[in-house]
Amino acid sequence: MVTSAPEASQATPVSAGRPLLAALDIGGTKIAGAVLDARGTVLHRAQHRTPPGGGPDDVLLAVRAVLRELAGLPPWGRVASLGIASAGPVDIARGRVSPVNIPGWRDFPLVDRVRELPQATGLPVALCGDAVAMTAAEHRLGAARGCRDALCMVVSTGVGAGLVLDGVVRNGPTGNAGHLGHITVDLLGDPCVCGARGCVEQLASGTSLTRRALENGWRPSGAADGAALAADARAGDAVALAAFDTSARALAAGIAAVATLVEIEVAVIGGGVAEAHDVLFPPLRRHLASYAVLPFAAGVRVERAALRADAGLIGAALIAAARQPAATPTCA
Ligand SMILES: [Zn+2]
Repeated sequence: MVTSAPEASQATPVSAGRPLLAALDIGGTKIAGAVLDARGTVLHRAQHRTPPGGGPDDVLLAVRAVLRELAGLPPWGRVASLGIASAGPVDIARGRVSPVNIPGWRDFPLVDRVRELPQATGLPVALCGDAVAMTAAEHRLGAARGCRDALCMVVSTGVGAGLVLDGVVRNGPTGNAGHLGHITVDLLGDPCVCGARGCVEQLASGTSLTRRALENGWRPSGAADGAALAADARAGDAVALAAFDTSARALAAGIAAVATLVEIEVAVIGGGVAEAHDVLFPPLRRHLASYAVLPFAAGVRVERAALRADAGLIGAALIAAARQPAATPTCA
C-alpha cells in the first residue's frame, strides 16, 4: 500500500447526541474523508494519497485507512450515514465506479466493498459523482444557494459539472448528468481521452492549459504548473494570456450551450483553475456574452465556487442524508 502520512485532523466541539454525517471524496490524487454535522459543517477530516497505478485493493486500502482514522474519533458512534463522492464515470444505480484517473478501478463495486468494511457496518451508504456532490454543496451552502437553475463546474485536472434544475440537483439515471467536460465544442478538435474529440475538458482543463502554453513557447521560470502560468498571465505574458483565453472560450461555449438548453441563472466555477479567476473570468465573461446571445440565455452569471476543496465532502454527506427516509429531500 502506498499512502502518505495522514494529514492532521481538526476537531470542533459538537453538541452531544445529535446525529452526524460522514463522507468520502475519492479522486485520482487524494482520498479525503470527513465527519460533518447535519448542516454540512466539517468537524473532522482525514486524507490519504490515492495509490498511483495501484490495483483495486490498493486503492480500497487507502479508503479503509481514511475511514479507520475517522472511526477512531469519539463522534463516529453518532454517524448516521456515509456519502461517497467519486471521480467519474459513476453508476449510482449499481454502486459501481470507473474513474478515468484511477485505472485500477473499472466497474468497481465501490458501495458493496465499502459496506463490507468494519467501519461502515450498519451505515446506509450513498454514492454520487464528485461533480454532482460539488453541485449539491454549492446549491445548499455556496455560490448557487437560492438558485432554482444552475450549472456548477470543477475545472482542475479535468472538467466536471453538475446541474440544478427546478431547485433539484440532477443525478440522471447513472449519476453523470451535466457532464459538460465531455461535450464537444470544437467539431474537428483533437481526440479526447473519452473517445470523442474537441471536448470542453480537452480545451479548458488545467492540464491542457499548461500543455498548450508550453507548446506555444511559454518558458516558466520555475514549475510549469497552473499557478505559474496564472502569475505570468497577470504579468502580461502574451502566451500565458492566450492559453487562458482559449480555456475561457471553451468554458464559455459549454456554459452557453447549457444556458440555451435548460435555462440557468448562474454558472459556478470551482477547482484549481478557478483559483486564477482574476485572469480566467474576464475573458470567460467576454466570450460568454458572444455565445449566449438569445434573451433567455444572455443573463447567465459566472461566479466563483464558495466551498473550495470541501465541496465534494459536504455534497456527498448531504446527498446521503437526503436519501434517508426521515430527511428533507433538498439535494438529491
Ligand atoms: Zn472528452
